[in-house]
Amino acid sequence: MRIGLGYDIHQLSKNRKFIIGGETIPFESGLLGHSDADVLVHSIIDALLGALALRDIGFHFPDTDEKYKDANSMLLLKKTNELIKDKGYKVINIDSNIVCQKPKLSPFIDNMRKNISTALDIDFDCVSIKAKTNEKMDSIGDGKSVASWAVVLLDKI
Ligand code: ZN
Repeated sequence: MRIGLGYDIHQLSKNRKFIIGGETIPFESGLLGHSDADVLVHSIIDALLGALALRDIGFHFPDTDEKYKDANSMLLLKKTNELIKDKGYKVINIDSNIVCQKPKLSPFIDNMRKNISTALDIDFDCVSIKAKTNEKMDSIGDGKSVASWAVVLLDKI
C-alpha cells in the first residue's frame, strides 16, 4: 500500500466562480487560478501523485500551458486516476479538510463527495471531506483565501 499527502491554497477574488469539489457554490467571490482553481481537487491530485512519487500537479498540468487555462479540475482528477491505474494502483480511500472561513460549505459536502467518487470510480463512502474555518485568523480566516489538505491510500490492483 502507498500513502500520499496533498496541500493547496488559492486566493479568493471577485468575478470568479467559486468551484470546490466540482460544485459551483453561490458566493460573492471565487478562487483565483489558471485553471478553475478547485482547491480541494488540486490537493487530492497532489496526494494521488505523491503516493506514487510521481512529482506534483504543476509537473503534470503546468499553469504555463494555455490548454489548462480555466481547465475543469475534475478532468485533471480523472487523468490522474488513469496515471495511477497505469502504474498498477487503485484508490482505497481519501480523507480531506477544506479550510474556508466563508461561505458555509456543509450543504455542499455530499455533492462534492459524489463528484469525486464518481470521477475516481470508487464508492461514495471512500471519500471523506471535512470543512473547517480558521477561527478568523490569518488570510484564510480573513476570507482572503481557501486551503485544502488531503491524504489518500492506494493499493495494488
Ligand atoms: Zn490549486
